[in-house]
Order: sequence, then C-alpha cells, then structure tokens
Amino acid sequence: MRWKNRRRSSNIDDRRGQRLAGGGSGGGSTVLLRLLPMLLGRRGGKWMIALVLGLMAASYFGIDLPFLSLGNNTSAPSQAHQPTAAEQELAEFTAVVLADTEDTWTELFKQAGLQYQKPKLVLFSGAVQSACGRASAAVGPFYCPADKQVYIDLSFYQDLKNRHNAPGDFAQAYVIAHEVGHHVQNLLGVSDKVRQRQAALDKAGANHMSVLQELQADCFAGIWGHHADRFRQMLEPGDLDEALVAAAAIGDDRLQREAQGSVQPESFTHGTSAQRMHWFKMGFDSGSISACDTFSTDS
Ligand SMILES: [Zn+2]
Repeated sequence: MRWKNRRRSSNIDDRRGQRLAGGGSGGGSTVLLRLLPMLLGRRGGKWMIALVLGLMAASYFGIDLPFLSLGNNTSAPSQAHQPTAAEQELAEFTAVVLADTEDTWTELFKQAGLQYQKPKLVLFSGAVQSACGRASAAVGPFYCPADKQVYIDLSFYQDLKNRHNAPGDFAQAYVIAHEVGHHVQNLLGVSDKVRQRQAALDKAGANHMSVLQELQADCFAGIWGHHADRFRQMLEPGDLDEALVAAAAIGDDRLQREAQGSVQPESFTHGTSAQRMHWFKMGFDSGSISACDTFSTDS
C-alpha cells in the first residue's frame, strides 16, 4: 500500500502500556461468577443472581463480535510495554487507514444525505475496558456499539501473519476497515435490527444473523478498499490478494477445521472463507452500499 505521508486520523486513543486496575485477564463477568457463591450465602442472594444475569445479558447484547470466531484461543495478554519503532510505524499506519475510512464514509454518507459520525479507535496492549465490558487481546479486534469505538491490540497483526498466514499491509487495513464497517452498521441502524431479530431466534438462528452482519462488515471493508484504490491510488499490485487471503484465513470453516478437525456450520458466526472473500470482493468491485445487502440476498 502507498500509505506514507498521508493524513493521519486524530481519532486515535492510544492506551498502549496502560494497565487495568485489578490486573490479570479475567473478564468482569468471570469475577462476578467467582463472587457468586459468596454472595449467595447472604441475604438478597436472589437479587444478586438477577443482577449478575442482567449484567451478563447486557454485555452479550452490547458487544459486537470480534473480528473472528475464537473457540480456544488461550494466549495470555501481554505486559505493558514501550512501543518499538516497528510498533510505532504500525500505529501510524493504523491512523492513516482510519483517516482514509473517514474520508470514504463521510463522502458516501453525504451522497446519501446523511452525516458520518467518525468513530474513535483505541489502541491497547493486553487488555482494555470498553463500554461493552472488559476484553483481552485474545478476542482480537472488536467494535463496541455502546461507545462507538474500535479496539485493536496491534499484536493481532502478528497473529494474522504468523498464525493465519495472512501477511501484508492491505490485510491489516482490511481488519481496520471491517471494524469501521461495524460502526457504519451501527450508524445505519443495522446493528439494532440484528439484535432485535436475534432476541426472537434460537441459538442457530441468532448465529446465522451474526454471519450476515459480519459478511456485510466485510463488504463495507471492500467498499473502503474500492475508494482508496480508485480515488486515492493507495493500492499496489498484490494488495487485493492480501485482503482476500486474510478473509479466507479467518473463515469459520477454516478456523474450526484447524482448531478441532471438523466443521459445525450451525455454530458459524462470521461466515465461511468463501463467503468472506465473496463479500469483500463485492464491496471492492462495486464501491456501493446497496451491493452489500447480505440480509436480503441470503438464501
Ligand atoms: Zn466483525
């Protein structure tokens, strides 16, 4: 990608090296579960159960799924660190890509008579607190609709390259653009509709809705790629393939086969490798939101 000397977004919240109070990687609900037996032994136990269940439901419905489905990722969060020169360059790259998504979506929203509200992107290391709860880097990049922020631990890019065999800067850009795609869905009201529909469905049905939402975020990422390429000539030969390789590498079927040797389609939440490549390409080729209606083209 040709990204150097381009505008960097000012909407980056750099929280790398910050330690969360309490330390460790246990999520908020895990802590609550540990406290539960103690609380149950006291008066007001039932009330506490209701509170805990309520909090868990809130975190379930408040958080958009991270970039990929993770069945058994056990990597521990890294310690606080001083960014190296390479990490600093990665942070600058992230700010340039975010800025370019801002330009793209501001323009597309304007064409539709809407105003684009730019998201903040939080860089973190190890673990982070969002309005959707506490998350460790092990869950991968994610978007929290409640605070309209994208969260990325840049070590994910190492994972993408080494664990998923998907190297390249445009593969990294695709990750950012996918999370920004969830923000666009949030602004357009898609995320709310999906949550409402999911509430009335069984687990398999809710998973299927999640797949359609994720594929649309892939398509939206493709739309950004289209504009970055056509209007700003940011792409170089081979870049498109990098994104397609990444999309294929994190398909649910591929990840499940790698993790457990078999595939359970009813548990998919992000779509197959073929679907993720298809929808990214759909957005990339068309550059248009109307081409990304994964919900009504679902068969
Ligand atoms: Zn996603």
